[in-house]
Amino acid sequence: MPPGPRIVSVLLPQPLPEPFDYELPEGMNAPPGSFVVVPLGPREMIGVVWAERSVPSNRKLKAVAEVIAPAPPMPPAMRTFIERAAKYVCAPAGNLLAMSMRSREALEEPPVELLVIASGETPERMTPAREKVLAEAGAPLSSADLARAAGVSSGVVKALLDAGALMQVERSLDPPFEEPDPERPARDLTEEQKAAADVLKAHVSERAYKAALLDGVTGSGKTEVYFEAIAQALRDDPEAQVLVLLPEIALTQAVTSRFEERFGVVPAEWHSAAGSKARRRVWREVAAGRARIVVGARSALFLPYRNLRLIIVDEEHDASYKQEEGVIYHARDLAVMRAHIESCAIVLASATPSLETLANASSGKYTHLRLSARPGVSRLPEIALADLREQPPETGRWIAPQLAKAIEETLAAKEQALLFLNRRGYAPLVLCRACGERLKAPDTDSWLTEHRYSGMLICHLTGFTMQKPLACPHCGAKGSLTGVSPGVERLAEEVHTRFKGARVEVLSSDTVTSPDSLRELIARMEGGAIDILIGTQIVAKGHNFPALTLVGVVDADAGLRGGDLRAGERTFQLLLQVAGRAGRADKPGRAIIQTYAPESPAISLLAAGDRDAFIEHEMEQRRQVGFPPFGRLGAVILAAGSSEQANEWAAAFGSAAPNAAGVEVWGPAPAPIAVLRGRHRRRFLVRSDRNVDLSAYLSAWKERVKLPPSVRVALDVEPYSFM
Ligand code: ADP
Repeated sequence: MPPGPRIVSVLLPQPLPEPFDYELPEGMNAPPGSFVVVPLGPREMIGVVWAERSVPSNRKLKAVAEVIAPAPPMPPAMRTFIERAAKYVCAPAGNLLAMSMRSREALEEPPVELLVIASGETPERMTPAREKVLAEAGAPLSSADLARAAGVSSGVVKALLDAGALMQVERSLDPPFEEPDPERPARDLTEEQKAAADVLKAHVSERAYKAALLDGVTGSGKTEVYFEAIAQALRDDPEAQVLVLLPEIALTQAVTSRFEERFGVVPAEWHSAAGSKARRRVWREVAAGRARIVVGARSALFLPYRNLRLIIVDEEHDASYKQEEGVIYHARDLAVMRAHIESCAIVLASATPSLETLANASSGKYTHLRLSARPGVSRLPEIALADLREQPPETGRWIAPQLAKAIEETLAAKEQALLFLNRRGYAPLVLCRACGERLKAPDTDSWLTEHRYSGMLICHLTGFTMQKPLACPHCGAKGSLTGVSPGVERLAEEVHTRFKGARVEVLSSDTVTSPDSLRELIARMEGGAIDILIGTQIVAKGHNFPALTLVGVVDADAGLRGGDLRAGERTFQLLLQVAGRAGRADKPGRAIIQTYAPESPAISLLAAGDRDAFIEHEMEQRRQVGFPPFGRLGAVILAAGSSEQANEWAAAFGSAAPNAAGVEVWGPAPAPIAVLRGRHRRRFLVRSDRNVDLSAYLSAWKERVKLPPSVRVALDVEPYSFM
């Protein structure tokens, strides 16, 4: 019997849980991992060959249209990662494939541009114009640039090409990244740094899965230490690839410059703001194994590395590693999964590690490396509390006497102050003094924030924007709308009136809208052109300002309100990060923290400098209720077109919850943001013991209910947002 047609299953970057089968035409070769074009309904689509089928199909299958030859096949470890990650986050594998195929053009040969260069031949006829062109044509240039450089018309260049005195050369528009050099001089490490670096280097050289927590106070040199691990990976293997994940807002020029200084070349960068050309280049070079160091935001985890030898997750506790839209995932957790699959080393670095990571370190799953001191003379700041119940600010003001005095002293000493307030705009709430109405976004349960610099009212959840009305939209009273409590713009107003002559600037996502403007502002601060910087959480991360000696936290309690699972933990982490900005060089720093809740554990233990006691306290709270890291959590968010429909289907969904040992389901309850973009939301919270496969439980639950298309259900494993 002749052999039947060869069949391959192809995963498509669509919300599909399984690959589809296709026939391979005679003579076509497409081993697993190949990128192929296949028909899907009336369209053609690019997918990845997931497997070869040995059992023939009894259905008539469509044929693979084309193999995309220039693209290196997706490595097996990457395919395994996509499958396992999809199961873990309860999403269709096709959606995760889509996240790893973020550049269609990267699959093709890199585009080239045609340049011209002198061929060395002398044209028969020489003119002064021709001479000028040839004098400029020693290095490849585009015809237009060459004509411009020589100050002649393009006709002269063309004529020289025809005469053979110029010739055309091709240059790739996506050149490979340059090779990093691990042997460039590093800083002399302190004993403590060296001990940590030695452990990490040994991990890397084992070429097996090894996880370490690099737990060091702010400024202790964690970056310098993990640079040594990167150098080791590059040294051990001429094809090793290293991925460094950073929170998006930490991904700045300053960070990439440090890589350049250490390894002699800029790393490949991957982040959401990168244009399609930059993405195409990075994707292709990563897939080809030529990009050796990739520095990126969370989505860089989904690039198709060929030979990943080390993953660094810097600021591993950062909440921005959790993606909340589309596929809901936590990049730190998936990075650990990927390191497992790739059999490589992973380093989680933080000054304030998450409780989950600390639990893994104390159980011995991760090697716990500590850096307890800043190198050299730099010291950690003193942290003092300003109890607002005892010494409140005057009415209409937000800076209490204790902080105001410290600002005065700092200005007098010609040093810099940073005031931290994690609220954009002028006022986070706009109220009508006549009728009490609070202005809300039309389709969302959230207050509108007043922005004075732009004169707008903005919903920070959805981006809805409107002019501030002259009259209350509810009762019609004129001039009655008033902003309640402060944002950074209002704080700046107070600072301007109270500290006359001080140079004040605001750093928030509204005032710095591009990487360039951020860089300029940081440079002004570094250069001493700013006396008081007022900022949102953008200022909390990574910047070193040598003359910054005072950090004032205007409202330490902001993050404690609302009280979700991690409120205390996050407040502690954020405030410690912010306070850590003070006193980096040889000047001692201090932080003053304004609070109405000085006795809350997050704040009192922060002031006492007792991180271990805070962690013990938090751990105990979570242990008592079986929350992470002592159990697992999952969330189900159901969204429908009307409140009635939401109630009806939430009830149906709730009664379909499978019974399972060690699992508790709470809900449904209206979500704290009960209406978002016109959709009515209900939530379930699911808690399970650690040994339960909660992902499988949630997926099975969702399978049980056939919902109408107008009702959507999102599953969230290890939720970070409880809104
Ligand atoms: P972290 O990542 O822990 O906040 P960094 O690695 O950014 O710390 O180090 C903080 C500062 O101290 C940086 O400017 C860094 O160059 C410097 N530094 C770190 N280690 C050393 C060292 N051994 N010798 C000199 N300077 C160091």
